[in-house]
Amino acid sequence: MALVREKDGRRLHVKSKLMGESLVSRSFAEKFEVAPQQRLFPDVQILKIGGQSICDRGVKGLPGIIKEIAANKPNHKMLLTTGGGTRSRHIYTIGLELGMPTGIIAKFGSAISEQNALLVATLLSPWGGIKIGHDEILKLPNYFTQECIPVMHGMPPYDYFALPAPHWRIPIHRTDVGTLIVADLIGAKRCIFVKDEDGLYTDDPKKNEKAEFIPEITVKELLAMDLDDLAIERPCLEIIQNSEVIDQIQIINGLKEGNITRALNGEHVGTIIRKP
Ligand code: ADP
Ligand code: MG
Repeated sequence: MALVREKDGRRLHVKSKLMGESLVSRSFAEKFEVAPQQRLFPDVQILKIGGQSICDRGVKGLPGIIKEIAANKPNHKMLLTTGGGTRSRHIYTIGLELGMPTGIIAKFGSAISEQNALLVATLLSPWGGIKIGHDEILKLPNYFTQECIPVMHGMPPYDYFALPAPHWRIPIHRTDVGTLIVADLIGAKRCIFVKDEDGLYTDDPKKNEKAEFIPEITVKELLAMDLDDLAIERPCLEIIQNSEVIDQIQIINGLKEGNITRALNGEHVGTIIRKP
């Protein structure tokens, strides 16, 4: 290993292409050549089971979804993640009213999303459902060899380090973002958001009956529309744009039987948001 001393003799570097760089320089980063990102598990599909949209429906929503996921196990390797939903919103409200910082609010969100992972994994246990922690992601091949359906909570583990956002202190990186980052990490085959509407609309269809369905859209087009409300957390759009391995996400209505199966089979159900 070659060592290089700076001209003034003060600092000693290990010789490498990043030697002495701040790692902040834009122009340096632009010309730096890196190997294409490896796809770790390109045959795995990630399904996010919505918190508010699915888990909170309990017996009125989950059993059908569990049945459909179980039926797909022989044909697909699936990693499930879960949202937080109504209970997160309740504790977020209390925390915001009491002046809690973003990191505390994020920690609340993680705990609730984990409850839903336990719920979904338990319901799936007759078919190999198993709750896993974030550290277990690289053990996915073991779980599939053992015929498991791994379920993990979707909140990214920023917790106390959650990025403070303008205006209010709800962390901007929640369970949609966590799911998409994991999809990027493993180079997943597909990233499917299982929610309770047919996909993305021009506005929240629960609040605006004139909202129009958008079957397919690019990130760029969606950003240009500057919609007031979205079916997916906003930072997801930038993550798709920056990802080397994920070029689209799909939002589907999991309450309509057959949609999960169709999406896993690569059919265009719901909304596809893709890179240009
Ligand atoms: P999850 O529980 O899966 O995180 P959310 O409830 O946070 O789901 O987000 C999905 C909800 O977002 C939909 O049920 C819908 O009511 C709402 N929504 C807001 N804006 C839109 C939009 N433009 N298109 C579709 N749904 C939207
Ligand atoms: Mg949500």
